[in-house]
Amino acid sequence: RAKSGGRGVVAFYDLQMDQTVRARRRLEADLRGAIARNELRVVYQPVVDADGRPISYEALLRWRSPDHGDVPPDVFIPIAEDTGVIIAIGEWVLREACRTAAGWSEGLSIAVNVSTVQFRVANLAEQVGLILSETGLAPARLGLEITETALMRDRDDTLEILRRLKAMGVKIIMDDFGTGYSSLSNLQSFPFDKIKIDRSFISAMEADRGAKAIVKAIVGLGRSLDLPVVAEGVETEAQHRIAVQEGCAEAQGYYFGAPGSPPDAVGVEPPRTSDRLS
Ligand code: C2E
Ligand code: MG
Ligand code: MG
Ligand code: MG
Repeated sequence: RAKSGGRGVVAFYDLQMDQTVRARRRLEADLRGAIARNELRVVYQPVVDADGRPISYEALLRWRSPDHGDVPPDVFIPIAEDTGVIIAIGEWVLREACRTAAGWSEGLSIAVNVSTVQFRVANLAEQVGLILSETGLAPARLGLEITETALMRDRDDTLEILRRLKAMGVKIIMDDFGTGYSSLSNLQSFPFDKIKIDRSFISAMEADRGAKAIVKAIVGLGRSLDLPVVAEGVETEAQHRIAVQEGCAEAQGYYFGAPGSPPDAVGVEPPRTSDRLS
């Protein structure tokens, strides 16, 4: 009797696993057609200087599927990476973001997240160059945000691509610094222009002296390497005050504005709508 009960449990888990696999397959299949069906859009979140004025916007992808609802990027980006769809989606986001930013006043730049997988397409630098000339955006107004995992694989190839992008005048931004495989030497070996401190340190900073010490250390490191540091995920006035006090040159977070519609074509107005509140 015990044996048959055991089998029942195993069968139950098998069924659940099967459902998880099926759900993922459906997401994969639907994501493939998402661009063509117009289900993707880009939202823009301000990055401000120490006085709280927007100087840049980060482009963030959104997917609204009729079958799956709003799927967060933390869920669909890894799937897009596994299936290779990120190549097409990544190009789409770049073009969309650059076209939008080309209409802004010249004091505003745009930052676009680039996946590890896009670096393995050898023509990323060429693709970016084409999109810049097509949209008329000045290269210095485009920043590409990459995480440290992107540097782990094919270091030489990645470095070569980053150098080509840098030579074109594009800015290279280290995203989510302090998490993952943080290797301080990465900051020196790769041609970064800016460091973004992961928001986990910013949210812990008030209560946790350790987190504040890490922020201080990253800012110090940035200073000696001549790299401005951005505080990510600033949600309160107190967090902004500490970030500025510790020497962060820029900040980004709900305190200044959630990701939303882009600023007006020739103005510097903050986004009018917010996808966080909707
Ligand atoms: P990320 O590049 O580190 O982007 C910042 C994330 O933090 C965004 O989440 C943003 O909405 C969120 N955020 C901003 N301010 C605050 C705050 O004050 N508090 C909190 N709790 N969160 C805040 P989102 O839009 O869900 O994106 C998640 C991640 O998905 C991004 O992290 C990025 O790694 C990836 N991603 C988003 N769009 C793209 C894209 O177009 N291409 C690629 N390759 N990855 C993308
Ligand atoms: Mg980012
Ligand atoms: Mg980040
Ligand atoms: Mg992140």
